[in-house]
Amino acid sequence: EAAVHDGVFWRRASGERDGLERAVSLMGELDAALGNGEIEVHYQPKLCLATDRIASVEALVRWRHPVRGFTPPDLFIPLAEQTDRIGPLTLHVLTTVLRDTSDWRARGHRVTAAVNISAKLLAAPDFIAAVDELLARSDVPGEALIFEVTESAAMSDHATAVATLNHYRERGIAVSMDDYGTGQSTLSYIRELPLNELKIDRSFVQHAHERSDDAALVRSTIELAHTLGLKVVAEGIEDAANLAFLKSIRCDYAQGYFISRPITVTALLVLLQGEAAA
Ligand code: C2E
Ligand code: CA
Ligand code: CA
Ligand code: CA
Repeated sequence: EAAVHDGVFWRRASGERDGLERAVSLMGELDAALGNGEIEVHYQPKLCLATDRIASVEALVRWRHPVRGFTPPDLFIPLAEQTDRIGPLTLHVLTTVLRDTSDWRARGHRVTAAVNISAKLLAAPDFIAAVDELLARSDVPGEALIFEVTESAAMSDHATAVATLNHYRERGIAVSMDDYGTGQSTLSYIRELPLNELKIDRSFVQHAHERSDDAALVRSTIELAHTLGLKVVAEGIEDAANLAFLKSIRCDYAQGYFISRPITVTALLVLLQGEAAA
């Protein structure tokens, strides 16, 4: 099952015999990596289209393995989810994000930070308690955070998902529905979730300026979201024409390589300081 999640790239890179063996050794190394600084967090800005400023950043985990090299999240997040390591990994990311956000705030930058929260963790009481504890120990208020959850995540156990998301919202944390459009959520389902934001998946966004069916989908999603009082983020903006189109249909925020790739915290600080000086 583990082999499903990795590709030819990994097979070649590792030289190990089969998927299971690779997965086991990868997860052992992940345990060590969580303690030795190999797991880093990079940040991708989300641009506010009304102000042209960075409103928020998404935290994206990066594993800089000394031997295997850069290991993309798609290779280890699914395995971490299957082997109960996603809780510790996410707490590591959240700890880093709280420390970095505290620093930005001390310097006068008011960007919010989004953290990806896996499906499984919506029904994990230990994880929820650990988040509360981290927040209580931090000088960063919940209002500075966004938790991104996926449709599939929220779908599996509706009542529990709603209760957990409400718990976070009571702490001031905003909730964003990630990869919107790729799951099977009905409108009534979306309406019942305590959401602040929809992130439209890049597969719908990327050609919206040049394909009329995609344009209609994105346009109507934005209208629907606004009717429900939700903000909208468009993901995967790779060129100027696409960005201009999204602005013209009153999308709230945009994220993608055209605006910025995910960058180190050091590079992000340079961006924020440049904005503040402008
Ligand atoms: P996601 O949450 O949908 O994150 C967006 C992904 O799209 C990121 O890939 C980002 O680098 C990429 N991206 C951003 N702009 C563009 C663009 O313009 N074009 C294209 N083609 N791609 C773009 P990344 O960093 O490789 O992360 C992949 C996935 O891994 C994420 O998808 C998320 O599901 C998961 N992930 C990353 N960090 C974490 C984490 O800390 N916790 C959990 N649970 N999942 C994470
Ligand atoms: Ca995300
Ligand atoms: Ca606090
Ligand atoms: Ca996404």
